[in-house]
Amino acid sequence: MSKHLDVNVRVPIEKGNPAILRYDSLCIKCGQCRDVCQKQISVGQHYDLLKTNDTAICIHCGQCANVCPTHAIKERQDFMQAKDAMRQGKKTVFITSPSVRVAIGEEFGMEPGSYVEEKMVAALRALGADYVFDTTFAADLTIMEEASELIDRIQNNKPLPQFTSCCPAWVKFVETYYPSYIPNISTSKSPISMFAPTIKTYFAKKEGLDPRDIYIVAITPCTAKKFEILREEFHDASDYHEMEAFQDCDLVVTTRELGNWLKAENIVFDELEDSNYDTLMPRGSGAGIIFGNTGGVMEAALRSAYYFITGNEPGDDLLKLEVVRGMNGVKEASLEINGIPLRVAVVHGTDNARAFIDHMETSGTHYDFVEVMTCRGGCIGGGGQPLHPGEDMD
Ligand code: SF4
Repeated sequence: MSKHLDVNVRVPIEKGNPAILRYDSLCIKCGQCRDVCQKQISVGQHYDLLKTNDTAICIHCGQCANVCPTHAIKERQDFMQAKDAMRQGKKTVFITSPSVRVAIGEEFGMEPGSYVEEKMVAALRALGADYVFDTTFAADLTIMEEASELIDRIQNNKPLPQFTSCCPAWVKFVETYYPSYIPNISTSKSPISMFAPTIKTYFAKKEGLDPRDIYIVAITPCTAKKFEILREEFHDASDYHEMEAFQDCDLVVTTRELGNWLKAENIVFDELEDSNYDTLMPRGSGAGIIFGNTGGVMEAALRSAYYFITGNEPGDDLLKLEVVRGMNGVKEASLEINGIPLRVAVVHGTDNARAFIDHMETSGTHYDFVEVMTCRGGCIGGGGQPLHPGEDMD
C-alpha cells in the first residue's frame, strides 16, 4: 500500500503515456504537479490507483510539465522521428497552430507575445520542410462543421448542449468522468485532425503523391495532441484510399520542443530571412486565428451559425462577442439568431468544467452550446508552450 501514498506528493504518470514523461531521479517531491493536477485540472484526486490497476488517468494536458521546477516532468521529445522521415525521403509537411507564432519567439529570448509568423515558417523550412501550411485553414473547416452540427442538433432535437471537441484532453476527461455526455461532444474533428487527412487526400492528389510518402508534423502548443493523433478514429485518409491503416497526422511537436529542435540544429532564429506559408490551402479567417484563445471557438462557430441561418454576415455584436472573452473560468451569454434563442457558455480549466457540469445538472439550466478548453486561457496556455518559472498558474 505504501506506494499509493506517492499520489499525495506527485502525479504518477502512466507507463506508455504518449505525451508526458517523468524522470523520478529529478523529482524533489515539491508537489506542484499534484497541485495543478488536482486543483486546476481536477483529475489528480478523482482516480483510484487500486481500481485502475496502479495506472493514473492522465488526460495529457501537460500542465504538470509546465509547473515542474526541475524538469522531472516533460513532454516527450519526438522530433527525431521527423528527422528519420526526412532521411527516408518522405515529403514533410508542417502545419502550425495559431498559438505557436506568438510563442516560439520566447524560446529565443523575445518578449512574450512577439508575433514571429514569418520567422517561424522560415525556421521550419530550415529544418527541411517541403511544405508549410497554416492550421487556421483547417480551423475554419472545424468551425463550419461545428456550426452546421449545432443547427442540426437544435432543429432535430438531438442532445444538447453541444460540447466542443477540439481539445483532446477535455474529450478524454468526458470519456473518463462523464461518459453519459459523450453524445453531447461535437462530432467535428479538431483542426489538425481535419487538416491531416485533407493533406493526404486532396493535397496528395493535387501534387501526384502517394499519401504514404507524406509525413505530417503538427506544431502545436498542446501536449495532448500527441495522444489525439494516435486515436484509432484518425485513419481517415487510409480509409479513403482503401489502403492498410496509417495515421492521418504522423507527429506532434510542441512549441517548446520546436525551440529545442531549432537549438539542436544551431538555427539562429532571429537571423532567418522571413518566409511565407505555401498557398495551395491558403490562410484561414480571423475566426480561425482566435481558436487559440478561450472563447475563440464559440465566437467563431456562432458567426458561422448566424450566416447559415440568416444568409447574412453577422453584425458587430457577434463579430466581437465580448461576453465570452477574458479570463473568467466560466462565461455565459444568451442571444437570439433569427428568433432562435441560444444559451451558450465558455469554460476553461477542467476544474471549472466539473463545477459547470455539476451546476448545470443541479440547477437544470438549459444550454445549447458549451466550449471547454482544458488549459487556462485556452491553447495559448497549453502544456507545450514556453515556460514561465514562478508564474502563478491560477
Ligand atoms: Fe491542448 Fe488546447 Fe486542450 Fe490545452 S486547451 S489540452 S493546449 S487543446
